[in-house]
Amino acid sequence: MLRLMHVHAHPDDESSKGAASTARYVAEGVDVHVATCTGGERGSILNPNMDRPDVLANIAEIRRQEMDAAREILGIKQDWLGWVDSGFPEGDPKPPLPEGCFALMDVEEAAEPLVRLVREFKPHVMTTYDENGGYPHPDHIMCHKVAVHAFEAAGDPDRYPDSGEPWQPLKLYYHHSFHYARFKALNDEMLRRGLESPYEERLRDWKPDPVHAARVTTRVECADWFAVRDRALIAHATQIDPEGFWFAVPLEVHQQVWPTEDYELARSLVETDLPEDDLFAGVRELADGAGDPDHLEDAARPGTMGA
Ligand SMILES: [Zn+2]
Repeated sequence: MLRLMHVHAHPDDESSKGAASTARYVAEGVDVHVATCTGGERGSILNPNMDRPDVLANIAEIRRQEMDAAREILGIKQDWLGWVDSGFPEGDPKPPLPEGCFALMDVEEAAEPLVRLVREFKPHVMTTYDENGGYPHPDHIMCHKVAVHAFEAAGDPDRYPDSGEPWQPLKLYYHHSFHYARFKALNDEMLRRGLESPYEERLRDWKPDPVHAARVTTRVECADWFAVRDRALIAHATQIDPEGFWFAVPLEVHQQVWPTEDYELARSLVETDLPEDDLFAGVRELADGAGDPDHLEDAARPGTMGA
C-alpha cells in the first residue's frame, strides 16, 4: 500500500532518472505515480533516425505516444501538469525564454495541479531534482521549485483550499545519478576491459566534488531492473539514440560497477538512519510496526507529524 510520486520536467526524464528503482518498487507492489510538468514540446530531436520533418511537425503528439509506451513498460501511473516546455536556451548571449513557458510561471500557480495530484494520489514519498535541476535546464530548476512547494503546501489545509483534502507526504528526495564517482567507476571498468569509454573526455574537465558527493544519502539497489530502464528510455525514440551515449556502456558493466540509483534525502517527517538503501526507510517501519493499514494514513495527516 506504499505510494511513491516522482515529479519530472519532461516526458523521458522519468526513464532517464530513477527508472530502475521505479521498476523495482513497482515489482514489489508499490504504487508509483509520475507527474510530468511539461509536454516536452520544445525538446530537440536527439535520435538521427527520428530527425524527420513529419516527426518535427507532430512532436508534441509523438512525445505523448512515447510517454504512453514508457508508462506501460515501467508499470506506472502518469499525469501531465499541462505546462509548456521552456526549451533549453542556447547561444551567447542566451535568448530570452519564450512567453508563457513553464520556467517563467509564478510558482504558486504552477504548483496548483501538482498539489491537487498529491492530495488525490496521497504519496508517502516524493522525488524531484535538486535546486540546480540536476543539470541547468530552466524547466528542471522550475520543477524543483514546484515540487518542493507542493510538498510543503499539500498538507496545509489553509493553502490551496479548493484543490482537495490535505495530504502530507513523509519524505522528499532529490535524484543524484550524474555524479563524478559513478562516471569515474564506469569509465575505469570500460578501460580495464579494453573498451572505449564514452566518458573519458567529460571526466578530463570534471574534478571530484566531495561536497556534492556527500549529498547522496540513499542508494537503492536496482541492477536487476536496468534492462527495464533501458527499454523505457528507448521508448522515447525522439530523445534517445540507441547507438549513442546512453547505451555506449554495456548493461553488465552498469550492473557490476554501479548497481544502485542514488538519492539525497531532502526532507523527512519520519525517523531514519543515514545512509539508507530504501526510499521507504522509516515509512515501512511505521506501517509494519502499526500492523494497521490506517495507522500510516493517520501519520500523514496534517498536525500529527508536526508538518
Ligand atoms: Zn528534462
